[in-house]
Amino acid sequence: MRQDGSRRKLIPSDHSQALRLRLTFYALLGGMTHLFLVWLCLYFGFFRGGLKVFLILASADLLGRLTFLALVATGINLRFKEPGLVLVQMVWATLCVLAAIYFVEYGRLVLLMFYLQVMLFGAFRLRREGFIFVTALAVLGYAGVIIALTAYHPLNLNPRLEWLQWLGFLLIMCNLSLVGAQLNKFLRRYRRQNYQLKEAMDRIEELAITDELTKLFNRRYVIEILNEQMALAARGVSSFSVCYMDLDHFKVINDTLGHDAGDKVLKRTSELLAASLREVDRVARFGGEEFLAVLINSTVERSRDVAERLRRRIEQESFPELDGDLKVTISIGVAEYQPNETVDEVLKRADQALYQAKRTGRNRTVTIPA
Ligand code: GH3
Ligand code: MG
Ligand code: MG
Repeated sequence: MRQDGSRRKLIPSDHSQALRLRLTFYALLGGMTHLFLVWLCLYFGFFRGGLKVFLILASADLLGRLTFLALVATGINLRFKEPGLVLVQMVWATLCVLAAIYFVEYGRLVLLMFYLQVMLFGAFRLRREGFIFVTALAVLGYAGVIIALTAYHPLNLNPRLEWLQWLGFLLIMCNLSLVGAQLNKFLRRYRRQNYQLKEAMDRIEELAITDELTKLFNRRYVIEILNEQMALAARGVSSFSVCYMDLDHFKVINDTLGHDAGDKVLKRTSELLAASLREVDRVARFGGEEFLAVLINSTVERSRDVAERLRRRIEQESFPELDGDLKVTISIGVAEYQPNETVDEVLKRADQALYQAKRTGRNRTVTIPA
């Protein structure tokens, strides 16, 4: 039987993968915006390469971005050290911009503004070193483009203006890196704290439903389970029975072997009970040396058999570490939930059955008819 609580919610593991896919898709959209601007340059006659070069650039650009999207969509990206592929996508975007501005005769600054978007994208994953790398690539790349233009296409170039733009670009990129890296630091701290909070919530939830000594469910939670089962039974979805169990002469064990030994007996008994039930059934520590099992979709006859199995299993157990002669037995009252009954009523019938089991000699199972 599972004792970890079926209510515990799993942290969705594909959450960040969904985020990665979304970001990669945005990067693709960003790339298309960039291409649109390059196309406008072509349309206005600012693009030196003509349609042929534009098409080559555009296909390479899109091919790269679609490859990133495919890698994330298929989950292949998870095999990489940095599954967000942020740095490589930023490097790709940088190279595409650099290639474009080499062929554009006017309006390079418009295309360089695209970096605002690239740097914002980086804030999601990139640390400071990554920002420095991308900034260096973009700034040095732009310098390289200016040098190449000066050498091969000096006609429409105003070197002083271009280097002034370059300086402005350098300064803005440095600032953006600083802000981006800081933003990333905040984001990472936020994610970490969020995760810790989730873990703490899970732990609190677990503590709230678990009995500390036996690690079985506690009384409060089993009552909740009973109420849920009652609601299901009312809708005709399922039925259930309860087995009310009480260790026999437990006080004697405490009195002769000590309270710690009593605790060990309680723990071992709990393990045996949990291990002997089906996955769907639930067992809780109901009080001091009392336990309650909730058997789902189990008639009173079957529940009686289950209870007998539990009783015999405990009777067979030996405790050599406490006392070689120690025999622990348990009395069990079984009742099946009847339509329109309250939880208290079915528990009361099981309690009556348990009382009868005690009165008629203990170490036995008694079933109370409806
Ligand atoms: P019966 O067969 O009639 O059930 O007899 P009993 O001795 O088991 O019943 P009684 O109600 O007289 O005693 C229950 C004992 O269980 C008394 C109490 O000290 C002990 N007990 C309750 N909770 C714990 C616990 O957490 N640890 C230990 N060691 N003992 C506990
Ligand atoms: Mg008792
Ligand atoms: Mg008892």
